[in-house]
Amino acid sequence: MLPSDSAAEREVVQVVLGHGPQMPLDYACPAGGVAEGMLVRVPFRRSTQIGLVVSHKPAEVAPDRLRPIAEVLGPALGDAAEAVFVAQALRQRYLCSWPQAVSPILPGARGFEPEAARWEIAAALSQQELDRLQARAPRQFEAYRALWRGPATLPLALAAPMARKGLVRRHVPTPPPAPHAGGPQLTDAQAAALRALRAGKGGTHLLFGVTGSGKTEVYFSLIEDALGDGRGALLLVPEIALTAQLVDLVRARFGNRAAVLHSAVGEAARHSAMRRLHEGLADVVVGPRSAVFAPIDAGVVIVDEQHEASYQQEEAPRYHAQDVALWRAARRGATLVLGSATPDLCTFQAASEGRIGLVELPERIARRPLPEVQLVDLRRTPGRIFTPQLTQAVRDSLRQGQQAILLLNRRGFHPSMVCTACGHVPTCPQCSVAIAYHEGGEAVCHLCGWRGAAPSRCPECQGKLRLLGTGTQRVAQAAEETWPGARVLRLDRDAVQRVGGADKVYAAFRRGEADILVGTQMVAKGFDFPLVTSVGVVIGDIGLGQPDYRASERTFQLLMQVTGRAGRAEHPGRAVIQAFDPDHAAFRYAVRHDYRGFAEQELRERRRGGYPPFGELLLIGYSGIEEQAVAELAQRRTQEVRSMAGGDVRVLGPAPAPIPKAKGRYRWQTLLVAERRERLREIAAALPPPQDHQGLREALFFDPRQFR
Ligand code: ADP
Ligand code: ZN
Repeated sequence: MLPSDSAAEREVVQVVLGHGPQMPLDYACPAGGVAEGMLVRVPFRRSTQIGLVVSHKPAEVAPDRLRPIAEVLGPALGDAAEAVFVAQALRQRYLCSWPQAVSPILPGARGFEPEAARWEIAAALSQQELDRLQARAPRQFEAYRALWRGPATLPLALAAPMARKGLVRRHVPTPPPAPHAGGPQLTDAQAAALRALRAGKGGTHLLFGVTGSGKTEVYFSLIEDALGDGRGALLLVPEIALTAQLVDLVRARFGNRAAVLHSAVGEAARHSAMRRLHEGLADVVVGPRSAVFAPIDAGVVIVDEQHEASYQQEEAPRYHAQDVALWRAARRGATLVLGSATPDLCTFQAASEGRIGLVELPERIARRPLPEVQLVDLRRTPGRIFTPQLTQAVRDSLRQGQQAILLLNRRGFHPSMVCTACGHVPTCPQCSVAIAYHEGGEAVCHLCGWRGAAPSRCPECQGKLRLLGTGTQRVAQAAEETWPGARVLRLDRDAVQRVGGADKVYAAFRRGEADILVGTQMVAKGFDFPLVTSVGVVIGDIGLGQPDYRASERTFQLLMQVTGRAGRAEHPGRAVIQAFDPDHAAFRYAVRHDYRGFAEQELRERRRGGYPPFGELLLIGYSGIEEQAVAELAQRRTQEVRSMAGGDVRVLGPAPAPIPKAKGRYRWQTLLVAERRERLREIAAALPPPQDHQGLREALFFDPRQFR
């Protein structure tokens, strides 16, 4: 019963802390050992911290010279081995340090509270053993007796030694049965999709379903399957604020088994959600990208709207939630479902090649038609914000007491230029990307760093150039003038800050407190608005000018999404896309709702340029307070990289980053393109360790684009 000296005790346990040294720290192995992937509390400097056990090694010094582990808390993820597997994958795939890889896995502020755990008796003791316990450890004896009446909380200092002796263990309550709110009867298409996904249990599948095709019900059926198998489910959503309706649906269907993990719910609510997960009281997790580290044994992992950019974490560890979902699902034999109406092209390519499953929902529920989309050439009506076609469409909706959405897909970037006569977008002499207009009349290529005077006339036709960068405020004002009497609501970062949340703006619009919603990307997502029957895209070209090989894909996805907002309920919808370059593929295919057509064309371009999924990228980013110093570091580093790169690696840059200054820091970058990931890895490994001194920072951003 009482453990003797085992070999494990003479081993050293290596623990990584989230905010500790770069390398794992050595601690003495506790009696009874501790598995890799367990969360432990350890003394560090003058306090204690939670860390992850990542490995064991034989003791080189006498173990009693090492500090002991204070407490073993439990497995960090679904099972012990999973956490180390995920941390190792993070390190390898994203070239990050041990603490960076471990920090998202550690509960930290996510509220692991072992003190609140309940304990139960793990082993029956004979009378003789009881007497001995009473004599030697009277407090443990009292605690043990108290548990005869059933599970109870115990002070950790008392429970921990008892657990090590095998007397007590954590009480894991049986989760309450799922309430049977029951969904609607599945349509034939949904039932067929579900059958296909069930047949591919344990695999990875793209659920390619048009907007309004009923993907949510398919997700819910899969979650019920997993619960039926005694396992949990993980549903990732791009941003909670934009998916409040989905979260409500999950709560309605799965009741208190659902845990919503989200930073905006408040510290207390998050604590309570995490505690319910650790105790096994909740087993359906909904949350944004960080929820992919939820401590559950997921039988199904779902990434909804998998193409969304918010799944990418922009700070170290720069993980993509879909990659982590993939590792976890593969490790635990869970089914992974990637849902989208406009899949990421890399995922789509993987599905087309049969590397992952492809399940389709090609029609909207109840055969509701997709909206009729009209493409209008802005060159014909220069100087007007709304063309007659868009004016008419919105007017028709308003006359029938319905609503309209106007999208201005402006981002915080420098504006690009467009010819008001021929629609030509001036591009860099060395690259095929649009040049950005900087104050003072300078033009800059954010891919290769080229700089020159901004052209005053269109280089193609001598037409007048115009900046693409109209603000939402101006559009809202024009809307009030164009449709007199219409109540206009704005949804952009400013407006969201003013009212305290995008969800408040959505809710007001949904309640009919406004007739027209004007906004940035945010209007394309979020709530279902049954009364919206017209959608206008004010200047479709804006996103195309971004110096990013995905600019075209992102613009197409946004257009498909926003036009899909129209006519989701019984009234048919209509959308108008205004563009200076209506011949661009993103528009031509969006008008026909033709994802496949677009994908084919765009993937051809990607193949030609060696971009993902046909190539690999490595971005080296530099930042600092002084632009000169950043530029010099970028130049030096790029030269080193060039000398290492053979003919199989293209080195683009250095150049100012697409967002050249952020939080007071100037940013530069170098982009490496290669066919093989291994080549980029070699170069990354051969580079001198990243600088981080005198305010200069350097980071490697590896973009492996696995199925995404
Ligand atoms: P998607 O996520 O694919 O865009 P949703 O899951 O939001 O689509 O479904 C679109 C609409 O169809 C929702 O209003 C939903 O309630 C409804 N719906 C889904 N499945 C069914 C069904 N089997 N019967 C009736 N209505 C359904
Ligand atoms: Zn260039």
